[in-house]
Amino acid sequence: MGNNIQAPRGTYDVLPDQSAKWQEIEAKIIELCNLYQYKEIRTPIFEHTELFQRGVGDTTDIVTKEMYTFQDRGDRSLTLRPEGTASVVRSFVENKLFGLPDQPVKLFYTGPMFRYERPQAGRMRQFVQFGVEAIGSKDPAIDAEVISLAMELYRSVGLKRLRLVLNSLGDTESRIAHREALVKHFEPRINEFCSDCKTRLEKNPLRILDCKVDRDHPLMATAPSLADYLNEESQAYFDQVKMYLDELGIEYVIDPNLVRGLDYYNHTAFEIMSDAEGFGAITTLCGGGRYNGLVEDLGGPESPGIGFAMSIERLLLALEMEKVEIGQSQNLEVYVIAMDDASKKKAFGIIKELRSNGISADMDYTGRKLKAQMKSADRKGAAYVIVMGETEMASGQVALKEMATGEQQTVAFADIAGTITKKKSLEE
Ligand code: ATP
Ligand code: MG
Repeated sequence: MGNNIQAPRGTYDVLPDQSAKWQEIEAKIIELCNLYQYKEIRTPIFEHTELFQRGVGDTTDIVTKEMYTFQDRGDRSLTLRPEGTASVVRSFVENKLFGLPDQPVKLFYTGPMFRYERPQAGRMRQFVQFGVEAIGSKDPAIDAEVISLAMELYRSVGLKRLRLVLNSLGDTESRIAHREALVKHFEPRINEFCSDCKTRLEKNPLRILDCKVDRDHPLMATAPSLADYLNEESQAYFDQVKMYLDELGIEYVIDPNLVRGLDYYNHTAFEIMSDAEGFGAITTLCGGGRYNGLVEDLGGPESPGIGFAMSIERLLLALEMEKVEIGQSQNLEVYVIAMDDASKKKAFGIIKELRSNGISADMDYTGRKLKAQMKSADRKGAAYVIVMGETEMASGQVALKEMATGEQQTVAFADIAGTITKKKSLEE
C-alpha cells in the first residue's frame, strides 16, 4: 500500500460530477414516500451480529459468507449492516412501535449496506439501499401498495424496461408440505450437488432452488413447485394481491421458482428486473416480500410485515442502460470578478450578500487574470457576471452583465441582490 492508498475493493467515491444524480434520486424517494405516507427511520450502521443471524437467517449467503463482522474493544461481536429489514424490525420492537395507534407502521430508509462479495458492476461491497417496510398488517392491499411504490420510483426517474416478477411462498403449512416434497425430490441424487446444497437439503431445501452453482442440474427444472402446495388460504391471499395489482394497472409475470435470498419471507415474494439491453448477468433491481413471523422471532408481538429493498447503484446502472439522463447540476447565478485587492474585499462582501438572498455566487480564489476568470465564469455557466475595479469602487456601482443576452445594467452595490431577485421572479 505505502503512499498509494486506494479506496477498499468493492467501494467507490461518488465524485462531484455524479452527485447531482444521487441527490435527484434521493429527492424523488423522499417525495414519493411522502405521497405514500411512509416515514423515514434511521438505524445504526452496525448492530449486534446476533440480530442478523436471527433476523436474516443463518443459512443465507449473507450470514454465512458476506458479513463484515468484528469484535469491538469491549469484546462485543458487531456487524456492519448487510441489509435494512432486521434493523428496522429490531427498532420496531425495541421502541414498541407496535403500540402506535396507527397500524401498519409504514417506514422507509436509505443508507449504506455492507457485504463481502465479488465486486462487479452492480455488486459492490458498500452499496446504498432504499427500502420500505410496512409492519402491522396482513392486508393483501398493502402488498400491492409496497410493490407499486417500488415500481413508481423507477418510473418517476424515467425507466421503462421493467418487469415485475411475482410468486407466493405460502404460509407455514404450505411451506412444510412443499419442503417435504423437495427433500423427497433431491435426496436420492444430492451427491450430484454442491456442498452448500447438501447442507441446504437439511436446513432449508427451498434454498436449493436459488443455488447459483447447480442451477442447470436436471432436477432443478423438475423440482416440485410451491404453487402446487399452496393451501387454500395462501392461494386466496395470493389471488387478492394480484387483484389489487390489476386494479393499479401494474403488470406482472408469475415465476413459481422465485425464492428470495433471505430466510424470513412467506406469502408474497417479488423482484423487479430490468429488460434493458446491455445488462450483464445481474438484472434484478429490487427484491422484496412478506415476512409474517419476523417480528415475533425478534421478540415482538404478532405483527405481519412486508417490504422491499433496492440499491441505488443498480438503479443508476438501469438508467445508463436505458440512456436516461438525470441530475442536471445547478448552474451558478453570479460570478464576481475583482481586479485588485480593494475591490476583492468589496466583492467578497457582495457575494456573501447575494448568498444571503438565496442567489448562488462565486469568485476567484487563485489570483487569476481577468481573462481566465471570464473563462471560469463561462465554465460554471454563470447567468450574470460583475467586474469590479477602481472605477466601480469610486462610483459605488457595477455593470451587471447578463451572459445569455450580453445586456448590461448599471446597479448600485446595495441593489445588486434586489435587482437579480426581481429578474428571477420575472423569469418564472
Ligand atoms: P443478488 O441475488 O443479486 O445477490 P440479493 O438477493 O442478495 O441479490 P437482496 O438482499 O434482496 O439482494 O437486496 C435487495 C437489492 O439490493 C437487490 O435487488 C439489489 O438491487 C441490491 N443489492 C444487493 N446486493 C448488492 C450489492 N452487493 N451491490 C449493489 N446492490 C446490491
Ligand atoms: Mg446477494
